[in-house]
Amino acid sequence: MKASVLFKQGEPIRVEDVSLAPPKEDEVLVRMAASGVCHSCLHAADGNWKGVPVPIVLGDEGAGVVEEVGPGVRDLKPGDHVILSWAPTCGRCHYCVIGRPNLCERRRPGQGVLLDGTSRMSLNGQTVHHYGYVATYASHSVMPESCAIPIRKDMPLDKAALIGCSVMTGVGAVLNTAQVPAGASVAVFGVGGIGLNVVQGGALVAAHPVIGVDVRPNKLDYARKMGATHGVDASKEDPVKAIKDITGRGADYAFVAVGNAKAVEQAWDCLAPGGMCVLIGVPATGSTVTFEVSRLQSGERTMRGCSYGSARTREDFPRMVDLYLGGRLKIDELITRRYALEEINEANRALAEGEVARGLIVF
Ligand SMILES: [Zn+2]
Ligand SMILES: [Zn+2]
Repeated sequence: MKASVLFKQGEPIRVEDVSLAPPKEDEVLVRMAASGVCHSCLHAADGNWKGVPVPIVLGDEGAGVVEEVGPGVRDLKPGDHVILSWAPTCGRCHYCVIGRPNLCERRRPGQGVLLDGTSRMSLNGQTVHHYGYVATYASHSVMPESCAIPIRKDMPLDKAALIGCSVMTGVGAVLNTAQVPAGASVAVFGVGGIGLNVVQGGALVAAHPVIGVDVRPNKLDYARKMGATHGVDASKEDPVKAIKDITGRGADYAFVAVGNAKAVEQAWDCLAPGGMCVLIGVPATGSTVTFEVSRLQSGERTMRGCSYGSARTREDFPRMVDLYLGGRLKIDELITRRYALEEINEANRALAEGEVARGLIVF
């Protein structure tokens, strides 16, 4: 099968003929239809995130068709359409049973292997690692059954791909993690692929105002198309002051959808009393932030993390599909450019330069 392989962090990715072993127990083989080009994978490729095992096939946002199922798979069959999740769930551990399956204890984050500790991919006898279990920058991928969530067949698979990471994370941060009520004020720091989905989550629950903050004017334009009521160019003005001017008392919810420590501090500083700061973006390994602790206590403010939009994938993916097909969720507007797999380095460059809302690799 054709896969794009990262051999060394900081070097270009190369498309290779990679051997793919058949699915083992509780695994499925998926033929990829489309894959979004994700910022976390860019960080893994450019070396901003340390300790990524190589060689590795990146990609954590995709959709496709099941081609083969391993022994023990009961809920999927060849021909099923699926959205891929980078967070397998066991359904039995503490977090799965209390309704927080995105924190499942069986995950092995960052190790580049499947749940049994091994890989299904190899190149000339050398092991090739799986990124985020689903390794979507490849024509085919083997993954745990719980990473392939079945969806209705009238959903276009290219649009479905984005639900697997950016839509789930951004919209989920608003609906699941923060549970923003109608009328609350929302500020979104960083309006890239994830932040634009936080913006549309805010619009979906009738938050007001919804303020996009970025250093690139073209992204603030994207944010307005996704439902932002205001845009703040943080390269030209102080976003904390601007948000306080717009809201009066500060933001009820401030989301950080960029891997930048300074943005975390600004998001904390712009909060109204009783407000919540939600951290989605992951700064470079080892980053620290400082904030004034007394504002946390006296104003009953909350600082909390958000992983994968607190996804309950089996519930949320089909729900996002219904919202899209019902005209309530925007996905077409997010896809700025389409690429062939061979154009992955160009896709990463455009993403790093902030030229696109989302790039999409189509197989
Ligand atoms: Zn992602
Ligand atoms: Zn679990």
